[in-house]
Amino acid sequence: MKVPFCDLKRLYAEQRSDLDAACSRVLGSGHYILGPECDGLEREISHLLGTGKIVTCNSGTDALIISLRLAGVRAGDDVLTPSLTAVPTISAILAVGARPVFVDIDPATWLIDPQDAAEVVSSRAAAAIAVHLYGNPVDARTLSTATNTPVVEDVAQALGARFVDGFVGTRASLGAFSFYPTKNLGAFGDGGAIWCPNEDQERRARMLRYYGQATRYQAEMPGGINSRLDEIQAALLRVRLQKLFEWNELRVSQVTRYRNALVDLPIQFQVAQPQSAPAWHLFVIALENGEIRDRLQMHLEGQGIQSLIHYPIPNHEQKAFRDFVVRPLPHTEALAKRILSLPMYPGLSQEEQACVISSIRAFFSNGECR
Ligand SMILES: *Cc1c(COP(=O)(O)O)cnc(C)c1O
Repeated sequence: MKVPFCDLKRLYAEQRSDLDAACSRVLGSGHYILGPECDGLEREISHLLGTGKIVTCNSGTDALIISLRLAGVRAGDDVLTPSLTAVPTISAILAVGARPVFVDIDPATWLIDPQDAAEVVSSRAAAAIAVHLYGNPVDARTLSTATNTPVVEDVAQALGARFVDGFVGTRASLGAFSFYPTKNLGAFGDGGAIWCPNEDQERRARMLRYYGQATRYQAEMPGGINSRLDEIQAALLRVRLQKLFEWNELRVSQVTRYRNALVDLPIQFQVAQPQSAPAWHLFVIALENGEIRDRLQMHLEGQGIQSLIHYPIPNHEQKAFRDFVVRPLPHTEALAKRILSLPMYPGLSQEEQACVISSIRAFFSNGECR
C-alpha cells in the first residue's frame, strides 16, 4: 500500500460541488480583488475567534511582515524567535529590516522557551514571535511577560488551537495566519490573515496590505505593500472553513490513535501545555537519535510510506541567517536530528494509518510490514 504524506486531491473531492460553485460564483461576478467574498471570510473568521478583527492578505509570510510592522518593529531592531520553525518566520523578520535573535526550545513542548528568551532579551528587542509549532499552542502571554516585549503569534500551523481563555492568535499583540494549501485551513493557492486586537490596528493593517492607502488613491501610511487575498481564494476558503473544526477533530483523533499504538516504543511525542487544546497540523515523532531516524525513514520509504522532516535544518544553522547567530541552541540542535513527520491529515484513511503503524512496529521488531 502506498501512503502519501498528504494528498490534497482527496480534500478537494470531499467538497467538490461546493468548491466548484464558489469558483464560478466569483468568476461570474466580475469582482476579483477585495470584494464581498473577502469581507465575508474576514467576518466569519473574526466571529469564530470571538474577539478582535481579521484582515486577510496574500500569505502567511506577508501576515507576519505586516504584524511585525504593526507591533512597532523597525529596521535595526531585534526580534526574538524560535529557531525551530519554518523559514518564513525568519524571512519576515529580515524583510522588515530587523535582526532575528534565536531562542532555544523547551525540550518537552518543542516550543520557544520563555526562560531562554528572558536570558537573551536586550533593550534592542522590539518584539518576540510565538510559533505554535505543529499546531501545539505556546503561551504567548508568558513569553510577553518574560521578554517584556509585544508578541506576534505565528499561527500558520494552528488555526483553531486554544487555551482555556481563548484561541491562539488572539492572546497577544497580533496574530499571523497562513492559508497555504496544506495548512489546517488551506486555500487553492496562497493566502494569509492578520488578527488585530482593535479597530486602530485593523485600519492600519488594511492600509499596509493596500500600498499604504486608506482609500483609493489616498496614501496615508509608509511601508505599504500589495498583499491582498483574491476573491476566488476567499470564496474557496469560506467553503473550507465549514470543515475546519470537523477536520481539526479528525487530526486530533489520528494523533491519539498514533500515540496509543506507538506508546510502548522508544519514541518521544510533543507535549501539550496544560490548559491548552492543540489543533495538530503535523504529527511529529522524535526517535532516540539521528541514525535511527534516518533508518526508519528509509524503512518507511521502502514500504511506500512517505514521511518528511520539519525541519531538517534549524534556522540558526541556515546559510541565509548565519550572520545573526551568537550562541548554540542545544535543545533545538539535538531535536532537529531526531524528528520525523508521519502522514496525518483529514484525507488519511484508517487502513493507511494502520499500515504506517504496523510498518513502524515492524521496524522496531526487525520484521516486515504485513
Ligand atoms: C506556512 C508557514 C508560514 C508561511 O506561510 P505562507 O503562507 O507560506 O507564507 C510561516 N510560519 C510558519 C510556522 C508556517 O508553517
